[in-house]
Amino acid sequence: MDIKQDLARLNALGYRVTRQRRLVLEVIRANPCLQNVDDIFTQCRGRDESISYPTIYRTLDMLVEAGMARRTHFQGKNWYEGVMSSHHHHFVCTECGATVALAVCPLDFLKEDLRAAQFEVHEHQFELLGICKDCQSNQPKGGVLL
Ligand SMILES: [Zn+2]
Ligand SMILES: [Zn+2]
Ligand SMILES: [Zn+2]
Repeated sequence: MDIKQDLARLNALGYRVTRQRRLVLEVIRANPCLQNVDDIFTQCRGRDESISYPTIYRTLDMLVEAGMARRTHFQGKNWYEGVMSSHHHHFVCTECGATVALAVCPLDFLKEDLRAAQFEVHEHQFELLGICKDCQSNQPKGGVLL
């Protein structure tokens, strides 16, 4: 889906598409994976100084409601990604924020248990927090900071 189709869909769903909302959507679509709300804010502000935090938050909520972005929460922050890629999870570096997509969804291993319990999952999160290869090499051996 290109951005024109997304904008047309937002219109059809009754959302007013403003220049600033479009900008937030562009920022979401420009990154194939998770970004936290601070990164999104910095990128939006870099392109439009007048865009406010509340506008960005409201637009992100709108995109989640419209099914164009996914939201997850960890490290005290909201993280977002566009839905151009298929469902996946992440390894996230707590030092530099780098994300690596994981090929496996843990829900796949629980299918039988969920069926047995007759439980219908509506939402799940699975993000692994740690330190990426680059950040490991920037640390003293053993990861102990003196
Ligand atoms: Zn991702
Ligand atoms: Zn890192
Ligand atoms: Zn999953």
